Amino acid sequence: MPGISIYTNAISLIPLIGAIFVCALGFLAFLKNRKFALNRIFFLYSVSIGIWLFGTYKMFFACHDAAKALFWDQFVYLGVVFIPAISYHFSVIFLNSKRQKKFVFLGYLFSFLFLSLVKSSLFIYGLFTYKWGCHTIAQPLHNAFLLFFFISIAAAFVNIYLKIQRTTEISEKIQARYVFVALLVLSFGSIAFLPAYKIAVFPFAYLSGLICAIILAYAVFKHHLMNIRVISTELFAGLITVVFLFNVLLSKSLHQFLVSAPLLVLVTVFGIFLVRGTLREIKVLEDLTTKLKEANETLKKLDQAKSEFISIASHQLRTPISIIKGFSSMLQEGNYGALPEKAKEVVGKIGTSTERLNRLINDLLDLSRMEGGKMQFNWESISLTDLVASGAEELKPVADQNQLELRWRPPQDKLYVRADQEKLRQVILNLIDNAIKYTLKGYVEIELEKTKAGSARLSVKDTGIGMDKEEMALIFGKFVRGKKVPRLWTEGVGLGLYIAKKIIEEHKGKIWAESQGEGKGSAFFVEIPMY
Ligand code: ADP
Repeated sequence: MPGISIYTNAISLIPLIGAIFVCALGFLAFLKNRKFALNRIFFLYSVSIGIWLFGTYKMFFACHDAAKALFWDQFVYLGVVFIPAISYHFSVIFLNSKRQKKFVFLGYLFSFLFLSLVKSSLFIYGLFTYKWGCHTIAQPLHNAFLLFFFISIAAAFVNIYLKIQRTTEISEKIQARYVFVALLVLSFGSIAFLPAYKIAVFPFAYLSGLICAIILAYAVFKHHLMNIRVISTELFAGLITVVFLFNVLLSKSLHQFLVSAPLLVLVTVFGIFLVRGTLREIKVLEDLTTKLKEANETLKKLDQAKSEFISIASHQLRTPISIIKGFSSMLQEGNYGALPEKAKEVVGKIGTSTERLNRLINDLLDLSRMEGGKMQFNWESISLTDLVASGAEELKPVADQNQLELRWRPPQDKLYVRADQEKLRQVILNLIDNAIKYTLKGYVEIELEKTKAGSARLSVKDTGIGMDKEEMALIFGKFVRGKKVPRLWTEGVGLGLYIAKKIIEEHKGKIWAESQGEGKGSAFFVEIPMY
Protein backbone atom coordinates (compact mmCIF):
# COMPACT_ATOMS: atom_id res chain seq x y z
CA MET A 1 0.00 0.00 0.00
CA PRO A 2 2.08 2.91 -1.26
CA GLY A 3 -0.31 5.54 0.19
CA ILE A 4 0.30 4.28 3.68
CA SER A 5 4.05 4.08 3.39
CA ILE A 6 4.36 7.70 2.21
CA TYR A 7 2.28 8.89 5.15
CA THR A 8 3.88 6.54 7.65
CA ASN A 9 7.36 7.62 6.66
CA ALA A 10 6.62 11.20 7.59
CA ILE A 11 4.15 10.63 10.38
CA SER A 12 6.07 7.88 12.15
CA LEU A 13 8.82 10.41 12.77
CA ILE A 14 6.49 12.16 15.25
CA PRO A 15 6.42 9.23 17.73
CA LEU A 16 10.11 8.55 17.13
CA ILE A 17 11.20 12.10 17.92
CA GLY A 18 8.81 12.10 20.90
CA ALA A 19 10.23 8.82 22.18
CA ILE A 20 13.84 10.03 22.01
CA PHE A 21 13.12 13.40 23.59
CA VAL A 22 10.95 12.08 26.41
CA CYS A 23 13.36 9.29 27.28
CA ALA A 24 16.36 11.60 27.29
CA LEU A 25 14.54 14.08 29.53
CA GLY A 26 13.40 11.38 31.94
CA PHE A 27 16.84 9.83 32.08
CA LEU A 28 18.54 13.14 32.82
CA ALA A 29 15.98 13.97 35.51
CA PHE A 30 16.76 10.61 37.08
CA LEU A 31 20.52 11.12 36.94
CA LYS A 32 20.18 14.59 38.42
CA ASN A 33 18.39 13.62 41.58
CA ARG A 34 17.29 10.02 41.92
CA LYS A 35 16.55 10.46 45.63
CA PHE A 36 13.67 12.78 44.85
CA ALA A 37 10.41 10.83 44.36
CA LEU A 38 9.07 13.13 41.63
CA ASN A 39 12.23 12.60 39.58
CA ARG A 40 11.95 8.82 39.86
CA ILE A 41 8.31 8.86 38.82
CA PHE A 42 9.06 11.24 35.97
CA PHE A 43 11.69 8.74 34.82
CA LEU A 44 9.16 5.87 34.91
CA TYR A 45 6.66 8.06 33.11
CA SER A 46 9.15 8.90 30.36
CA VAL A 47 10.09 5.24 29.92
CA SER A 48 6.45 4.18 29.50
CA ILE A 49 5.72 7.08 27.13
CA GLY A 50 8.96 6.23 25.28
CA ILE A 51 7.86 2.58 24.89
CA TRP A 52 4.42 3.70 23.67
CA LEU A 53 5.87 6.08 21.09
CA PHE A 54 8.71 3.85 19.94
CA GLY A 55 6.40 0.81 19.57
CA THR A 56 3.96 2.95 17.57
CA TYR A 57 6.78 4.09 15.31
CA LYS A 58 7.73 0.45 14.65
CA MET A 59 4.07 -0.59 14.24
CA PHE A 60 3.48 2.06 11.56
CA PHE A 61 6.21 0.42 9.50
CA ALA A 62 4.69 -3.04 9.93
CA CYS A 63 1.16 -2.25 8.77
CA HIS A 64 1.55 -4.60 5.79
CA ASP A 65 2.30 -7.56 8.08
CA ALA A 66 -0.49 -8.22 10.64
CA ALA A 67 1.62 -10.52 12.86
CA LYS A 68 4.47 -8.03 13.05
CA ALA A 69 2.10 -5.14 13.70
CA LEU A 70 0.45 -7.15 16.51
CA PHE A 71 3.86 -7.82 18.03
CA TRP A 72 4.73 -4.11 18.06
CA ASP A 73 1.36 -3.09 19.41
CA GLN A 74 1.78 -5.55 22.26
CA PHE A 75 5.13 -3.87 22.83
CA VAL A 76 3.28 -0.51 22.89
CA TYR A 77 1.00 -1.75 25.67
CA LEU A 78 4.01 -2.73 27.80
CA GLY A 79 4.38 1.01 28.32
CA VAL A 80 0.77 2.14 28.03
CA VAL A 81 -0.61 -0.11 30.81
CA PHE A 82 1.56 1.81 33.28
CA ILE A 83 0.60 5.34 32.19
CA PRO A 84 -2.59 5.49 34.35
CA ALA A 85 -0.87 4.21 37.51
CA ILE A 86 2.15 6.46 37.02
CA SER A 87 0.05 9.56 36.30
CA TYR A 88 -1.95 8.91 39.47
CA HIS A 89 1.22 8.21 41.47
CA PHE A 90 2.77 11.46 40.20
CA SER A 91 -0.33 13.42 41.30
CA VAL A 92 -0.33 11.82 44.78
CA ILE A 93 3.32 12.66 45.37
CA PHE A 94 2.80 16.15 43.96
CA LEU A 95 -0.14 16.73 46.32
CA ASN A 96 1.84 15.09 49.13
CA SER A 97 -1.21 13.06 50.14
CA LYS A 98 -0.40 10.27 52.58
CA ARG A 99 -3.96 8.96 52.65
CA GLN A 100 -3.93 8.07 48.95
CA LYS A 101 -0.76 5.98 49.04
CA LYS A 102 -2.67 2.70 49.29
CA PHE A 103 -4.53 3.56 46.08
CA VAL A 104 -1.21 4.09 44.30
CA PHE A 105 -0.35 0.52 45.17
CA LEU A 106 -3.72 -0.61 43.84
CA GLY A 107 -3.09 1.31 40.61
CA TYR A 108 0.18 -0.52 40.00
CA LEU A 109 -1.52 -3.82 40.83
CA PHE A 110 -4.05 -3.16 38.05
CA SER A 111 -1.26 -2.14 35.67
CA PHE A 112 0.55 -5.43 36.27
CA LEU A 113 -2.73 -7.31 35.87
CA PHE A 114 -3.28 -5.74 32.44
CA LEU A 115 0.36 -6.28 31.61
CA SER A 116 -0.16 -10.01 32.09
CA LEU A 117 -3.17 -9.82 29.76
CA VAL A 118 -1.50 -7.93 26.90
CA LYS A 119 -0.67 -11.10 24.99
CA SER A 120 -4.18 -12.49 25.39
CA SER A 121 -6.39 -12.45 22.30
CA LEU A 122 -9.12 -11.12 24.58
CA PHE A 123 -7.14 -7.88 24.97
CA ILE A 124 -6.15 -6.93 21.41
CA TYR A 125 -6.42 -8.97 18.27
CA GLY A 126 -6.52 -8.47 14.47
CA LEU A 127 -5.41 -5.37 12.59
CA PHE A 128 -7.25 -2.25 11.49
CA THR A 129 -5.43 -0.44 8.70
CA TYR A 130 -6.41 3.11 7.88
CA LYS A 131 -5.17 5.98 5.80
CA TRP A 132 -2.52 7.21 8.20
CA GLY A 133 -1.38 4.02 9.89
CA CYS A 134 -2.71 0.91 11.58
CA HIS A 135 -3.77 -0.40 14.99
CA THR A 136 -4.71 -3.72 16.51
CA ILE A 137 -8.40 -4.17 17.30
CA ALA A 138 -9.63 -3.84 20.90
CA GLN A 139 -11.20 -6.92 22.50
CA PRO A 140 -13.43 -7.07 25.66
CA LEU A 141 -10.57 -6.88 28.19
CA HIS A 142 -9.36 -3.71 26.50
CA ASN A 143 -12.62 -2.01 27.55
CA ALA A 144 -11.83 -2.83 31.18
CA PHE A 145 -8.38 -1.36 30.69
CA LEU A 146 -9.89 1.85 29.26
CA LEU A 147 -12.11 2.16 32.34
CA PHE A 148 -9.04 1.83 34.57
CA PHE A 149 -7.21 4.36 32.37
CA PHE A 150 -9.90 7.03 32.63
CA ILE A 151 -10.59 6.56 36.34
CA SER A 152 -6.88 6.94 37.16
CA ILE A 153 -6.43 10.00 34.96
CA ALA A 154 -9.57 11.59 36.46
CA ALA A 155 -8.22 10.97 39.98
CA ALA A 156 -4.90 12.51 38.95
CA PHE A 157 -6.76 15.57 37.67
CA VAL A 158 -8.60 15.96 40.97
CA ASN A 159 -5.31 15.78 42.89
CA ILE A 160 -3.58 18.38 40.73
CA TYR A 161 -6.65 20.60 41.02
CA LEU A 162 -6.54 20.25 44.83
CA LYS A 163 -2.87 21.14 44.77
CA ILE A 164 -3.65 24.32 42.82
CA GLN A 165 -6.36 25.22 45.34
CA ARG A 166 -4.44 24.37 48.51
CA THR A 167 -0.96 25.63 47.88
CA THR A 168 -0.27 29.14 49.07
CA GLU A 169 3.12 29.48 47.42
CA ILE A 170 2.83 31.24 44.09
CA SER A 171 5.64 29.26 42.43
CA GLU A 172 4.00 25.97 43.45
CA LYS A 173 0.64 27.17 42.17
CA ILE A 174 2.16 27.99 38.79
CA GLN A 175 3.91 24.63 38.66
CA ALA A 176 0.68 22.84 39.51
CA ARG A 177 -1.13 24.69 36.70
CA TYR A 178 1.49 23.56 34.22
CA VAL A 179 1.23 19.98 35.43
CA PHE A 180 -2.55 20.25 35.04
CA VAL A 181 -2.17 21.37 31.42
CA ALA A 182 0.43 18.66 30.77
CA LEU A 183 -2.01 16.06 32.07
CA LEU A 184 -4.74 17.54 29.89
CA VAL A 185 -2.52 17.13 26.84
CA LEU A 186 -1.69 13.59 27.88
CA SER A 187 -5.40 12.75 28.18
CA PHE A 188 -5.86 14.14 24.69
CA GLY A 189 -3.43 11.36 23.71
CA SER A 190 -6.15 8.87 24.62
CA ILE A 191 -7.65 9.46 21.15
CA ALA A 192 -4.83 7.11 20.13
CA PHE A 193 -7.19 4.38 21.38
CA LEU A 194 -9.79 5.26 18.71
CA PRO A 195 -8.24 3.21 15.86
CA ALA A 196 -8.39 0.22 18.25
CA TYR A 197 -12.18 0.66 17.90
CA LYS A 198 -11.87 1.00 14.14
CA ILE A 199 -12.23 4.76 14.11
CA ALA A 200 -9.65 6.31 11.81
CA VAL A 201 -8.13 9.56 13.12
CA PHE A 202 -5.07 11.42 12.04
CA PRO A 203 -2.37 10.44 14.55
CA PHE A 204 -2.28 13.76 16.36
CA ALA A 205 -2.40 11.80 19.58
CA TYR A 206 1.23 10.77 19.26
CA LEU A 207 2.19 14.39 19.57
CA SER A 208 0.59 14.53 23.01
CA GLY A 209 3.32 12.49 24.74
CA LEU A 210 5.90 14.84 23.26
CA ILE A 211 3.96 18.04 24.04
CA CYS A 212 3.19 16.85 27.56
CA ALA A 213 6.91 16.33 28.18
CA ILE A 214 7.72 19.74 26.67
CA ILE A 215 5.18 21.46 28.93
CA LEU A 216 6.53 19.68 31.98
CA ALA A 217 10.05 20.59 30.92
CA TYR A 218 8.96 24.21 30.41
CA ALA A 219 7.22 24.28 33.80
CA VAL A 220 10.46 23.15 35.26
CA PHE A 221 12.62 25.34 33.06
CA LYS A 222 10.79 28.40 34.27
CA HIS A 223 9.48 27.24 37.60
CA HIS A 224 11.94 24.72 39.00
CA LEU A 225 10.05 21.46 39.15
CA MET A 226 12.63 18.68 39.53
CA ASN A 227 15.42 21.14 38.75
CA ILE A 228 15.06 20.54 35.04
CA ARG A 229 16.26 23.94 34.05
CA VAL A 230 19.77 22.53 34.30
CA ILE A 231 18.65 19.28 32.75
CA SER A 232 17.12 20.94 29.69
CA THR A 233 20.21 23.07 29.21
CA GLU A 234 22.37 19.96 29.40
CA LEU A 235 20.04 18.18 27.01
CA PHE A 236 20.16 21.04 24.57
CA ALA A 237 23.95 21.37 24.74
CA GLY A 238 24.35 17.58 24.50
CA LEU A 239 22.09 17.26 21.45
CA ILE A 240 23.89 20.02 19.57
CA THR A 241 27.25 18.45 20.41
CA VAL A 242 26.08 15.02 19.16
CA VAL A 243 24.85 16.52 15.89
CA PHE A 244 28.20 18.22 15.32
CA LEU A 245 30.05 15.05 16.32
CA PHE A 246 28.14 13.09 13.64
CA ASN A 247 29.03 15.78 11.20
CA VAL A 248 32.71 15.24 11.98
CA LEU A 249 32.51 11.43 11.97
CA LEU A 250 30.62 11.34 8.70
CA SER A 251 32.80 13.86 6.88
CA LYS A 252 33.48 12.69 3.35
CA SER A 253 36.59 14.74 2.67
CA LEU A 254 39.51 16.25 4.54
CA HIS A 255 38.17 19.68 3.70
CA GLN A 256 34.82 18.91 5.31
CA PHE A 257 36.61 17.44 8.34
CA LEU A 258 38.76 20.56 8.72
CA VAL A 259 35.64 22.73 8.74
CA SER A 260 33.50 20.61 11.05
CA ALA A 261 36.14 19.63 13.64
CA PRO A 262 36.81 23.20 14.91
CA LEU A 263 33.05 23.76 14.87
CA LEU A 264 32.62 20.74 17.13
CA VAL A 265 35.25 22.11 19.53
CA LEU A 266 33.51 25.50 19.51
CA VAL A 267 30.08 24.01 20.14
CA THR A 268 31.43 21.79 22.94
CA VAL A 269 33.11 24.74 24.68
CA PHE A 270 29.96 26.81 24.22
CA GLY A 271 27.89 23.95 25.70
CA ILE A 272 30.14 23.67 28.75
CA PHE A 273 29.95 27.40 29.39
CA LEU A 274 26.18 27.37 28.94
CA VAL A 275 25.66 24.57 31.46
CA ARG A 276 28.10 26.04 33.98
CA GLY A 277 26.48 29.47 33.62
CA THR A 278 23.03 28.00 34.23
CA LEU A 279 24.29 26.07 37.25
CA ARG A 280 25.84 29.21 38.73
CA GLU A 281 22.70 31.23 38.10
CA ILE A 282 20.54 28.60 39.76
CA LYS A 283 22.87 28.41 42.76
CA VAL A 284 22.62 32.18 43.22
CA LEU A 285 18.84 32.03 42.90
CA GLU A 286 18.57 29.15 45.37
CA ASP A 287 20.81 30.90 47.90
CA LEU A 288 18.70 34.03 47.59
CA THR A 289 15.48 32.08 48.00
CA THR A 290 16.80 30.35 51.13
CA LYS A 291 17.89 33.68 52.62
CA LEU A 292 14.55 35.26 51.80
CA LYS A 293 12.68 32.36 53.38
CA GLU A 294 14.76 32.63 56.55
CA ALA A 295 14.27 36.39 56.72
CA ASN A 296 10.55 35.89 56.22
CA GLU A 297 10.36 33.36 59.06
CA THR A 298 12.23 35.73 61.40
CA LEU A 299 9.90 38.57 60.44
CA LYS A 300 6.83 36.43 61.09
CA LYS A 301 8.14 35.49 64.55
CA LEU A 302 8.97 39.12 65.35
CA ASP A 303 5.55 40.23 64.20
CA GLN A 304 3.89 37.66 66.42
CA ALA A 305 6.05 38.65 69.38
CA LYS A 306 5.17 42.30 68.76
CA SER A 307 1.43 41.52 68.68
CA GLU A 308 1.69 39.57 71.92
CA PHE A 309 3.66 42.34 73.57
CA ILE A 310 1.17 44.99 72.45
CA SER A 311 -1.72 42.91 73.73
CA ILE A 312 -0.18 42.24 77.16
CA ALA A 313 1.14 45.78 77.64
CA SER A 314 -2.20 47.34 76.71
CA HIS A 315 -4.14 45.12 79.09
CA GLN A 316 -1.75 46.05 81.90
CA LEU A 317 -2.16 49.77 81.15
CA ARG A 318 -5.93 49.76 81.14
CA THR A 319 -6.51 49.51 84.90
CA PRO A 320 -4.20 52.38 86.02
CA ILE A 321 -5.61 54.56 83.23
CA SER A 322 -9.19 54.06 84.41
CA ILE A 323 -8.11 54.85 87.98
CA ILE A 324 -6.46 58.13 86.87
CA LYS A 325 -9.55 59.00 84.82
CA GLY A 326 -11.90 58.28 87.72
CA PHE A 327 -9.91 60.28 90.30
CA SER A 328 -9.33 63.27 88.01
CA SER A 329 -13.04 63.61 87.30
CA MET A 330 -13.83 63.26 91.05
CA LEU A 331 -11.20 65.93 91.78
CA GLN A 332 -12.73 68.23 89.19
CA GLU A 333 -16.22 67.70 90.53
CA GLY A 334 -14.98 68.79 93.97
CA ASN A 335 -15.43 65.43 95.74
CA TYR A 336 -12.23 66.09 97.70
CA GLY A 337 -12.92 69.72 98.39
CA ALA A 338 -13.08 72.80 96.16
CA LEU A 339 -10.05 73.28 93.89
CA PRO A 340 -8.52 76.62 92.97
CA GLU A 341 -9.26 77.67 89.35
CA LYS A 342 -5.69 76.97 88.15
CA ALA A 343 -5.69 73.46 89.70
CA LYS A 344 -9.11 72.78 88.11
CA GLU A 345 -7.69 73.64 84.72
CA VAL A 346 -4.70 71.36 85.24
CA VAL A 347 -6.90 68.48 86.39
CA GLY A 348 -9.06 69.07 83.29
CA LYS A 349 -5.96 68.66 81.14
CA ILE A 350 -5.07 65.45 83.01
CA GLY A 351 -8.57 64.17 82.22
CA THR A 352 -8.31 65.01 78.48
CA SER A 353 -4.84 63.47 78.14
CA THR A 354 -5.92 60.35 79.99
CA GLU A 355 -8.89 60.01 77.67
CA ARG A 356 -6.52 60.22 74.67
CA LEU A 357 -4.22 57.65 76.23
CA ASN A 358 -7.23 55.43 76.77
CA ARG A 359 -8.11 55.71 73.09
CA LEU A 360 -4.54 54.94 72.11
CA ILE A 361 -4.57 51.79 74.23
CA ASN A 362 -7.86 50.78 72.68
CA ASP A 363 -6.30 51.31 69.25
CA LEU A 364 -3.40 49.05 70.17
CA LEU A 365 -5.76 46.41 71.47
CA ASP A 366 -7.88 46.70 68.32
CA LEU A 367 -4.78 46.25 66.21
CA SER A 368 -3.81 43.03 67.94
CA ARG A 369 -7.43 41.81 67.71
CA MET A 370 -7.53 42.66 64.00
CA GLU A 371 -4.25 40.90 63.32
CA GLY A 372 -5.39 37.85 65.22
CA GLY A 373 -8.68 37.90 63.25
CA LYS A 374 -10.59 38.34 66.53
CA MET A 375 -12.30 41.68 65.90
CA GLN A 376 -16.01 41.26 66.51
CA PHE A 377 -18.84 43.49 65.34
CA ASN A 378 -22.26 44.02 66.93
CA TRP A 379 -24.48 45.09 64.09
CA GLU A 380 -27.55 47.22 64.78
CA SER A 381 -29.52 50.02 63.18
CA ILE A 382 -28.35 53.33 64.65
CA SER A 383 -28.85 57.03 64.10
CA LEU A 384 -25.59 58.27 62.67
CA THR A 385 -26.78 61.83 63.27
CA ASP A 386 -27.05 61.23 67.04
CA LEU A 387 -23.70 59.45 67.10
CA VAL A 388 -21.86 62.32 65.37
CA ALA A 389 -23.65 64.90 67.52
CA SER A 390 -22.54 63.18 70.73
CA GLY A 391 -18.97 62.85 69.42
CA ALA A 392 -18.87 66.58 68.62
CA GLU A 393 -20.26 67.39 72.04
CA GLU A 394 -17.70 65.17 73.77
CA LEU A 395 -14.77 66.86 72.07
CA LYS A 396 -16.12 70.42 72.29
CA PRO A 397 -14.27 71.12 75.57
CA VAL A 398 -11.00 69.99 73.96
CA ALA A 399 -11.58 72.33 71.00
CA ASP A 400 -12.38 75.14 73.47
CA GLN A 401 -9.16 74.46 75.36
CA ASN A 402 -7.27 74.91 72.08
CA GLN A 403 -9.27 78.02 71.22
CA LEU A 404 -10.75 76.43 68.13
CA GLU A 405 -14.29 76.91 66.95
CA LEU A 406 -16.11 73.57 66.57
CA ARG A 407 -18.96 73.76 64.01
CA TRP A 408 -21.51 70.97 63.69
CA ARG A 409 -23.88 70.92 60.69
CA PRO A 410 -26.43 68.12 61.06
CA PRO A 411 -28.57 66.89 58.14
CA GLN A 412 -32.22 67.91 57.83
CA ASP A 413 -33.48 64.39 58.58
CA LYS A 414 -31.82 61.88 60.87
CA LEU A 415 -29.68 59.39 58.95
CA TYR A 416 -29.80 55.74 59.96
CA VAL A 417 -27.15 53.15 59.16
CA ARG A 418 -26.46 49.55 60.08
CA ALA A 419 -23.33 49.68 62.16
CA ASP A 420 -21.39 48.70 65.23
CA GLN A 421 -22.10 51.78 67.33
CA GLU A 422 -18.96 51.61 69.50
CA LYS A 423 -16.59 51.08 66.58
CA LEU A 424 -18.15 53.81 64.48
CA ARG A 425 -17.99 56.16 67.48
CA GLN A 426 -14.28 55.40 67.71
CA VAL A 427 -13.81 56.42 64.05
CA ILE A 428 -15.77 59.66 64.48
CA LEU A 429 -13.88 60.63 67.66
CA ASN A 430 -10.58 59.86 65.96
CA LEU A 431 -11.35 62.11 62.99
CA ILE A 432 -12.55 65.03 65.14
CA ASP A 433 -9.69 64.60 67.62
CA ASN A 434 -7.14 64.58 64.75
CA ALA A 435 -8.68 67.73 63.29
CA ILE A 436 -8.31 69.45 66.67
CA LYS A 437 -4.79 68.09 67.26
CA TYR A 438 -3.48 69.15 63.87
CA THR A 439 -5.07 72.64 63.79
CA LEU A 440 -3.29 75.50 65.54
CA LYS A 441 -5.88 78.17 64.83
CA GLY A 442 -9.16 78.54 63.01
CA TYR A 443 -12.03 76.07 63.13
CA VAL A 444 -13.11 72.46 62.76
CA GLU A 445 -16.29 71.84 60.81
CA ILE A 446 -18.25 68.60 61.05
CA GLU A 447 -20.99 67.96 58.53
CA LEU A 448 -23.30 65.02 57.91
CA GLU A 449 -25.36 64.75 54.74
CA LYS A 450 -27.11 62.32 52.47
CA THR A 451 -25.43 61.76 49.08
CA LYS A 452 -27.29 61.48 45.77
CA ALA A 453 -26.40 57.77 45.71
CA GLY A 454 -28.21 57.33 49.04
CA SER A 455 -25.22 56.99 51.38
CA ALA A 456 -24.50 58.91 54.55
CA ARG A 457 -21.43 61.13 54.18
CA LEU A 458 -19.55 62.55 57.14
CA SER A 459 -16.96 65.22 56.55
CA VAL A 460 -14.54 66.66 59.11
CA LYS A 461 -12.78 69.76 57.75
CA ASP A 462 -10.19 71.88 59.48
CA THR A 463 -7.99 74.90 58.90
CA GLY A 464 -4.91 73.11 60.21
CA ILE A 465 -1.50 71.96 59.02
CA GLY A 466 -2.84 70.12 55.94
CA MET A 467 -0.70 67.67 54.03
CA ASP A 468 0.93 67.08 50.66
CA LYS A 469 -0.11 64.41 48.14
CA GLU A 470 2.66 62.03 49.17
CA GLU A 471 1.59 62.08 52.80
CA MET A 472 -2.08 61.75 51.88
CA ALA A 473 -1.37 58.47 50.10
CA LEU A 474 0.28 57.00 53.19
CA ILE A 475 -1.66 58.11 56.25
CA PHE A 476 -4.11 55.18 56.25
CA GLY A 477 -1.20 52.75 56.69
CA LYS A 478 -0.19 51.04 59.91
CA PHE A 479 2.00 53.13 62.28
CA VAL A 480 2.22 55.98 59.74
CA ARG A 481 2.56 59.54 61.01
CA GLY A 482 3.15 62.76 59.09
CA LYS A 483 6.71 64.12 58.87
CA LYS A 484 6.11 67.23 61.00
CA VAL A 485 3.47 65.71 63.24
CA PRO A 486 5.63 64.11 65.96
CA ARG A 487 7.09 67.53 66.82
CA LEU A 488 3.62 69.00 67.08
CA TRP A 489 2.04 66.12 68.91
CA THR A 490 4.27 63.60 70.61
CA GLU A 491 1.51 61.23 71.72
CA GLY A 492 0.01 59.01 69.07
CA VAL A 493 1.51 56.20 67.09
CA GLY A 494 -0.16 56.48 63.68
CA LEU A 495 -2.76 53.77 64.19
CA GLY A 496 -6.04 55.70 64.36
CA LEU A 497 -6.63 56.09 60.63
CA TYR A 498 -5.43 52.56 59.88
CA ILE A 499 -8.01 51.12 62.28
CA ALA A 500 -10.65 53.59 61.07
CA LYS A 501 -10.15 52.36 57.50
CA LYS A 502 -10.52 48.72 58.54
CA ILE A 503 -13.68 49.50 60.51
CA ILE A 504 -15.24 51.51 57.68
CA GLU A 505 -14.41 48.76 55.18
CA GLU A 506 -16.25 46.30 57.45
CA HIS A 507 -19.22 48.68 57.19
CA LYS A 508 -18.96 48.42 53.38
CA GLY A 509 -18.09 52.10 53.26
CA LYS A 510 -15.09 54.17 52.29
CA ILE A 511 -12.86 56.71 53.95
CA TRP A 512 -10.49 59.19 52.32
CA ALA A 513 -8.69 62.48 52.86
CA GLU A 514 -8.35 65.66 50.82
CA SER A 515 -6.05 68.64 51.27
CA GLN A 516 -4.88 71.54 49.13
CA GLY A 517 -1.37 71.11 50.53
CA GLU A 518 0.72 71.86 53.58
CA GLY A 519 -0.70 74.61 55.78
CA LYS A 520 -3.96 74.65 53.79
CA GLY A 521 -6.18 72.54 56.06
CA SER A 522 -7.52 69.02 55.56
CA ALA A 523 -10.83 67.32 55.02
CA PHE A 524 -11.61 63.74 55.95
CA PHE A 525 -14.63 61.94 54.49
CA VAL A 526 -16.49 58.79 55.47
CA GLU A 527 -19.27 57.32 53.38
CA ILE A 528 -21.48 54.48 54.59
CA PRO A 529 -24.44 52.96 52.75
CA MET A 530 -27.85 53.66 54.33
CA TYR A 531 -30.60 51.08 54.73
P1 ADP B 1 -1.77 59.78 64.87
O1 ADP B 1 -2.73 60.90 64.95
O2 ADP B 1 -1.61 59.02 66.11
O3 ADP B 1 -0.45 60.16 64.28
P2 ADP B 1 -3.57 58.72 62.84
O4 ADP B 1 -3.58 57.38 62.19
O5 ADP B 1 -4.82 59.18 63.45
O6 ADP B 1 -2.37 58.66 63.87
O7 ADP B 1 -3.10 59.76 61.74
C1 ADP B 1 -2.04 59.45 60.89
C2 ADP B 1 -1.40 60.71 60.33
O8 ADP B 1 -2.32 61.36 59.45
C3 ADP B 1 -1.05 61.75 61.34
O9 ADP B 1 0.18 61.48 61.94
C4 ADP B 1 -1.04 63.01 60.50
O10 ADP B 1 0.20 63.11 59.80
C5 ADP B 1 -2.11 62.76 59.46
N1 ADP B 1 -3.38 63.42 59.83
C6 ADP B 1 -4.46 62.86 60.37
N2 ADP B 1 -5.45 63.76 60.53
C7 ADP B 1 -4.95 64.95 60.08
C8 ADP B 1 -5.49 66.26 59.97
N3 ADP B 1 -6.72 66.57 60.38
N4 ADP B 1 -4.70 67.21 59.43
C9 ADP B 1 -3.44 66.95 59.02
N5 ADP B 1 -2.89 65.71 59.09
C10 ADP B 1 -3.63 64.73 59.62
